[in-house]
Amino acid sequence: MRGVRTESPKPSQDFEFNSDTPRDECGVFGVWAPGEDVAKLSYFGLFALQHRGQEGAGIAVGDHDKVVVFKDTGLVSQVFDEPVLEALQGEVAIGHTRYSTAGGNSWENVQPMFRTSPNGTDIALAHNGNLVNYMELQAEAIEKKLIPAAGVKGQGSSSDTAVVSALLADLITDDRTLADAARELLPRVKGAFCFMVTDGHTLYAARDPHGVRPLSLGRLDGGWVVASETCALDIVGASFVRDIEPGEMVAIDETGVHSERFAETPKAHCVFEYVYVARPDSVIDGQTVNASRIEIGRRLSKVNPVEADLVMPVPESGTPAAIGYAEASGIPFKQGMMKNAYVGRTFIQPSDTLRQLGLRLKLNPVREVIEGKKLVVVDDSIVRGNTQRKLIRMLREAGAAEVHVRIASPPVKWPCFYGIDFASPGELIANHGHTDNDEAIAESIRTMIGADSLAFVPIDDMIAASHKPKDNLCAACFTGHYPLGLPEGNPNADLVRRIQKGAEA
Ligand code: SF4
Repeated sequence: MRGVRTESPKPSQDFEFNSDTPRDECGVFGVWAPGEDVAKLSYFGLFALQHRGQEGAGIAVGDHDKVVVFKDTGLVSQVFDEPVLEALQGEVAIGHTRYSTAGGNSWENVQPMFRTSPNGTDIALAHNGNLVNYMELQAEAIEKKLIPAAGVKGQGSSSDTAVVSALLADLITDDRTLADAARELLPRVKGAFCFMVTDGHTLYAARDPHGVRPLSLGRLDGGWVVASETCALDIVGASFVRDIEPGEMVAIDETGVHSERFAETPKAHCVFEYVYVARPDSVIDGQTVNASRIEIGRRLSKVNPVEADLVMPVPESGTPAAIGYAEASGIPFKQGMMKNAYVGRTFIQPSDTLRQLGLRLKLNPVREVIEGKKLVVVDDSIVRGNTQRKLIRMLREAGAAEVHVRIASPPVKWPCFYGIDFASPGELIANHGHTDNDEAIAESIRTMIGADSLAFVPIDDMIAASHKPKDNLCAACFTGHYPLGLPEGNPNADLVRRIQKGAEA
């Protein structure tokens, strides 16, 4: 079943209901636990990480010198069933849920990636993040004839993960182990990454030197677990041990957990993990995500108060901030919209009727709660603004007297090149008013979405709520300051360079 390809009767284009929210990129999960059902543990771990990527899922299981990968496009529950999981037997496993920010959404790009080294060692690799020196690594892989020269697109995988897997496997020889190969390659990989790798015997996990994406280590009775978020440790009954440090690689086998550093640089944790990406029940680098979001809501209410009858969230990601806003303002909290948790990404063919139904299939206002009321509607972020525009229209149709929108992050003005897919600078609604002034941006967006008032949390309040020093965070999508630099050969990055150069001139 190595690298098995499964086919499912899915249309080529999924009907996506929420296309203007930020899209997360990938969750990784690894378990080393001889005697346990590592495939099922991975399956449950991936369930907990499903919010980080819904386009594909895969599990690689290792049994000493043999590695087997099963993967496909779709949700975790669509990719795996009982017979498949039964067939995946081993001592170590890595798993992945994918949203594609590098490479298209094809089977080839679903992870884990499988490669065999020149000396016959099988490896599987899973990655969360985005590399900024992808072009350089790709050129090296092409020169070594590890990937097709025509690149990759249309011929095998086009993702940065495929390139790293190829380079890593190529470095393994009779004299050089996978650990040696990783020691050689990791310092040359630039960007945001959490890698999970196995050769069928040992579980390796590495986090980039800036620690952009989260990665945590947990303990099972009979083994160890590493996962993008602590919610995945909880679901498999693992106790949290510690975060994997930025620039750290751990190797886990029967002799225990061995740690080494491959690089040291200033930290740049993604502040957006606290606002939107991570699950609220996760703890990232010592800070509970839910507590950060509630605190952002409290701060939002202090700096942007409004007279209203009730505070309601855009479910689910706006909920903790709405609770904080309600607590601090004294305005009652109510659920004024119901979310259909089962819509998510569906595989219904798009049609005009369905497109028009769009948001209503996912969110439905509760007329009895909102009719005649002045509402404070709290959401996590505004990217293109399409959802908020429809939402406000829907609330007014349901009888809302006033709609005051409060956003638990500052205006998103710049694209992310470190693993979250927003949009190009021109698609971001914050840039449509052609101004840098946040108040003017808020007013321009307010008129576009049709709210009675609109306010964003100031960046310093968002950062304070993460309880991390400002210098240890990436906030590039709000500030345009990219702590890891911009990738080469990326049209959006070239556009950012031109805009920033123009502003300096
Ligand atoms: S640019 Fe934004 S989303 Fe991307 S890593 Fe930085 S803070 Fe996170």
